[in-house]
Amino acid sequence: MEYILIFVFGMVLASFVNASMYRYENGYTLNAFVFKPSSCEKCNIQLKWYELIPVVSYVLFKGKHKDCGYGIPIYYSISEFLLGLTFVLYYYFNISLEIYVITLMLFSFVISDIWYKSIPATLTNIFLIISVLLNIFVGPFDIYVYIFWFSILGLIFLISRFKEVFGLGDGMVLVMTGIYFTPLISSLSYLLNFIYISGGILSVLLIFGLVKRKEYVPLIPLIYISFVVSTILEALSISIFSLMGIY
Ligand SMILES: [Zn+2]
Repeated sequence: MEYILIFVFGMVLASFVNASMYRYENGYTLNAFVFKPSSCEKCNIQLKWYELIPVVSYVLFKGKHKDCGYGIPIYYSISEFLLGLTFVLYYYFNISLEIYVITLMLFSFVISDIWYKSIPATLTNIFLIISVLLNIFVGPFDIYVYIFWFSILGLIFLISRFKEVFGLGDGMVLVMTGIYFTPLISSLSYLLNFIYISGGILSVLLIFGLVKRKEYVPLIPLIYISFVVSTILEALSISIFSLMGIY
């Protein structure tokens, strides 16, 4: 039962983030951002409460707005499902609460990277600060991990001045999530996971012609996958070690 609740909670949060990023990117004023009720992207008719329920409304109305027939991008439902699933996995593996917060921030970048092909610089700065503060006061703070990640950020900064392969924003997101992998060896395996996973996925996409060379490739979804996989692998290895009485 609690798994269903966690799943629904994740989906509702995802739906909230989807709407927030839409409003952020479309330059809503603060007042409208907070108080304007949700409406259809095409016809602007205000949505009924049951049309706001993630996935359910999608299935119920076959992915269309019932008043104007506007096809709601399936992407929304997929992203909501994914965050729900992530939270269920976290709950199962007893992942600590600050990781949920980091995941939620990371998730909002996934949305804007796929949808708007960029991540807002202001938000990147704010989230990096939140992440560092949370890490120092709550999370697993480790100075060597900081030295590691900020050196990598410096390196990315230097490289990005010559060749724009990996944006500074992507680097900041990597740092924002990386500082939660302590000790240093976990951070290293997170970075390796990211390299393997993104390398693997990108080559598959290239082979099947789903992305072209020199085309914009959103990297944040790849960081998201690597982050979740690394978090769960770490929890898994800790529970295996403790079973064997090592940890
Ligand atoms: Zn409509």
